[in-house]
Amino acid sequence: MTALVSDSVLELDHVTRRYGGTTAVDDLSLSVADGEFFTLVGPSGCGKTTTLRLIAGFEEPTTGTVRFGGTDVAGVPPEDRNVGVVFQNYALFSHMTVGENVAYGLNFAEPPGGVSDEQRVAELLELVDLPDTQARDPSSLSGGQRQRVAIARALAPGPDVLLLDEPMSALDAKLRERLRVQVREIQQELDITTVYVTHDQEEALAVSDRVAVLNEGRAEQVATPRDIYHRPESRFVAEFIGDNNVFEGAVQAVNGDTATVAVSGETLSVDIGDWSESSVSVGDRLTFCVRPEELGVDSGSTRLTAKVTSAEFLGETTRVRLDWLGQELMLRTRETLDGDVTVGFDPKDARVIECRE
Ligand code: ATP
Repeated sequence: MTALVSDSVLELDHVTRRYGGTTAVDDLSLSVADGEFFTLVGPSGCGKTTTLRLIAGFEEPTTGTVRFGGTDVAGVPPEDRNVGVVFQNYALFSHMTVGENVAYGLNFAEPPGGVSDEQRVAELLELVDLPDTQARDPSSLSGGQRQRVAIARALAPGPDVLLLDEPMSALDAKLRERLRVQVREIQQELDITTVYVTHDQEEALAVSDRVAVLNEGRAEQVATPRDIYHRPESRFVAEFIGDNNVFEGAVQAVNGDTATVAVSGETLSVDIGDWSESSVSVGDRLTFCVRPEELGVDSGSTRLTAKVTSAEFLGETTRVRLDWLGQELMLRTRETLDGDVTVGFDPKDARVIECRE
């Protein structure tokens, strides 16, 4: 679990939320720094939306504490938390113009910066790259444009924290990619602390400063996108984020930085890197992973003979699935593969996830 950082604007301290017999959020501790783009990612039902609702104040923890700027916000209603929230569906009012929708976000409060309501609306529509759309009807906008209006509305009163719950789930793939770049740009321009919920691991890696991977209400890992991808700390993270090949076996020998591991009766060499020699011993169960892009045909010093079971042409590369002694492996290649192949990896490209006695 990460330590709570001192400049955090937002903290969850051992927060649990139960609904009857269901534990939606389970002893979750997180801390989000000022100006950070922090993403909650995980499979359906892992507690992402509940966590966001606990932050927004739509829900209260069963146990544990939510703090804003170090202050416990138990009992503080959403409207007094100074958060802007954007949900999955645009939730724009169809009987109002775009400008009226954004102005509604001010909720009768004075716009920040001493400007008029009209100036504030114009400035926000400029920010979300929809200038001069005040008089338009929301139904005349595309899905991505409507979601940008919803973001402008959430930002209208100048919130301290922006909360986004799967704001792109209703959009098609190309639009999602474009909008996520725009959301990141808006966040950086305002330097606003943002908590973003998505089930899409690629989106999480693409936009965030840090990512929390949730599983069954708990944080499996909280780290930068690079560390989440390259240094997964659990099998769940290794398999949920991107494609991966996970191996598990008994350590047969340890020699400096290299361990030899018996997996399915074969001996594989693995670099144990920053896992010191003393923490990996002969007889231990070692779990490690090798990304599909690190697995090559006739390459690397750790070799495996496998059989091609399927190939998916993805444009840039082909994702090939292989059967290796009953275990499925994945490989990314530009070559056309068929039948029996010898694949391999460099021991230093293997990443140790876990070592148990
Ligand atoms: P999804 O990606 O499908 O939206 P999620 O990760 O956001 O999922 P949550 O919506 O937070 O997950 O739900 C976590 C768990 O808590 C689920 O098992 C869900 O059924 C349960 N849950 C959430 N809200 C309630 C509620 N109001 N009453 C009962 N159970 C709930």
